[in-house]
Amino acid sequence: MKKQYGFFIDADRCIGCFTCAMACKNQNRLEPGIKWREVHPLDEAIYPHRDRAFYSLACNHCERPCCIEACPVSAYSKREKDGVVVHDQQKCIGCKNCVRSCPFGAPEYNPELNKAEKCSLCYQRLDAGLTPACAQGCPTRALQVVELSALDDADLLHYPPGFPAAKKLNPSVRFRSPRQPRIIRRKA
Ligand code: SF4
Ligand code: SF4
Repeated sequence: MKKQYGFFIDADRCIGCFTCAMACKNQNRLEPGIKWREVHPLDEAIYPHRDRAFYSLACNHCERPCCIEACPVSAYSKREKDGVVVHDQQKCIGCKNCVRSCPFGAPEYNPELNKAEKCSLCYQRLDAGLTPACAQGCPTRALQVVELSALDDADLLHYPPGFPAAKKLNPSVRFRSPRQPRIIRRKA
């Protein structure tokens, strides 16, 4: 199996603090309104409790990325050495084909630049032996960057409720479900 980096999202640990999303914006100097990572509260239909639970999501660096196929100027590429899907802004012509094609909503269109952009898995940090900024910033280790083949994913989910089951793409992400709140009943 080829080396493939991906995200482990441990919703059991996530406290919805948005530090991962802010660390991403800070690391990549993202303009106002542009988000490469978003922390999504789970819908009440999926998590019907007064407590809230969250998935922190970005580009999934898919095994078979449709953004690569959709782009007419080959602005997307997948790194052979670790499976990271990189977007080259120099090549991008802002046609939004990738934005429309990605079932996970990962590429963002930047109207100021007339370019698309997305999570790069901080490949420059990976190349320097550093942890990507989002995972580095997470205070609870709810978000981790992992080598998928080294992950014991026996009790993890690939397509949990609320996450698009785009199996053809094989997104490089695994989830642990949020815990069910403890119900404490008063004694009669
Ligand atoms: S999540 Fe979307 S943008 Fe990211 S690699 Fe997959 S298809 Fe491409
Ligand atoms: S930093 Fe960690 S705990 Fe906070 S929202 Fe992101 S994943 Fe959840």
